[in-house]
Amino acid sequence: MSTRRIAVVGAGVAGAGVAYALRNAPVSVTVFERTDRIGGRAATHTAHGYTYDPGANYVKNDDPAVVDLITETLDAEGVIDITDPVWTFTEDGTITSGEDSDAHKWGYERGIAELPRRLFEESDATVVRNTAVTEIDRDDGEWSLAGPRPLGTFDVVVLTPPAPQTASLLSTIEWDSDSYRALHSTVEEVEYRPIHTVVLGYPFEIDVPYYALVNTDRNHEIGWLSREECKPGHVPTGECLLVVQMAPDWSARRIDDSDETVIDHEVTDLTAELLDDERFRAPDWTDTIAWSHALPDLEGAPDIDPELRQHIEREGLFLAGDWVTGEGRIHRALGNGLMTGQRIGR
Ligand SMILES: Cc1cc2nc3c(=O)[nH]c(=O)nc-3n(C[C@H](O)[C@H](O)[C@H](O)COP(=O)(O)OP(=O)(O)OC[C@H]3O[C@@H](n4cnc5c(N)ncnc54)[C@H](O)[C@@H]3O)c2cc1C
Repeated sequence: MSTRRIAVVGAGVAGAGVAYALRNAPVSVTVFERTDRIGGRAATHTAHGYTYDPGANYVKNDDPAVVDLITETLDAEGVIDITDPVWTFTEDGTITSGEDSDAHKWGYERGIAELPRRLFEESDATVVRNTAVTEIDRDDGEWSLAGPRPLGTFDVVVLTPPAPQTASLLSTIEWDSDSYRALHSTVEEVEYRPIHTVVLGYPFEIDVPYYALVNTDRNHEIGWLSREECKPGHVPTGECLLVVQMAPDWSARRIDDSDETVIDHEVTDLTAELLDDERFRAPDWTDTIAWSHALPDLEGAPDIDPELRQHIEREGLFLAGDWVTGEGRIHRALGNGLMTGQRIGR
């Protein structure tokens, strides 16, 4: 029997989960990634001697299989559990020591992108970076992919980008089938919220009892603020590195604004006000990341008819990623990628 050829579009945690689940299957897996990094929104950057996670902050404890994978099955060297709590704040900036529901908050000394990196390392997948897939075609039961150049033919294709990007890819497939059209229109309806992340570096340390602050009434311009120095190995001793994630409405208003200086000033002022400390108005350096597709805007998983999904999967087309589960979380995207890989491997 010839080896089945699997193409995975996207090297985020869902794509890494698919590749990892297929590590012992008689298949060849090629992963195409648009950027030069693996991890997608589970991103780690390094600059000025700091390591920081400007997308996902940590993995929640909610899925025992994912926790097992991180702490037992994969190499556990450098795994960290952020022990300082997450506190809350409201529209008027009042900070309260809320219940921290995340009993464990898993990460890595080398940054959260270690998780997809370790999953890919254990798999036999070939990851092709800097290669955006722009067209998919289906002919004689085979899938052909194209991007900056023809990317080859495959028996199975797995799409893992956020739903709006997956919908664009689906629209390139010429496939005269009612099931396919129904699937496409369901995916097209899934929207994502943007988040501007602004990273602020300071040459002093602060003495506060929390790792992060989350806005619970969703009326503040800042949605989340965390201290990377609570993650061992990320920040030199005596310094402070804040990851400030702006609220989706605030971010949506500035998504086309290319002037990072204006954004940074606004964010540093809001940060100084929230933390009631003038020193935060003048960071040593900043980094701004505009996540146009940060989190799926869903209450529950999109309604994809199981029979329709089975039909599409029999044809060799699979969808995976956080939006498929209805929740923008690493453990959900990874769990979904693992299950998708297991279905392909059967
Ligand atoms: C600011 C922010 C904070 C967050 N905080 C947390 C948190 O603390 N804890 C948590 O659990 N989750 C958090 N999340 C959510 C979490 O990051 C995501 O749910 C998860 O990483 C999604 O993984 P994924 O593989 O489904 O998608 P992605 O990570 O988006 O991966 C998709 C990949 O596909 C690539 N791609 C897209 N289009 C193409 C194409 N045409 N061709 C080739 N490649 C393509 C992309 O570059 C990307 O690498 C946060 C997200 C953001 C943005």
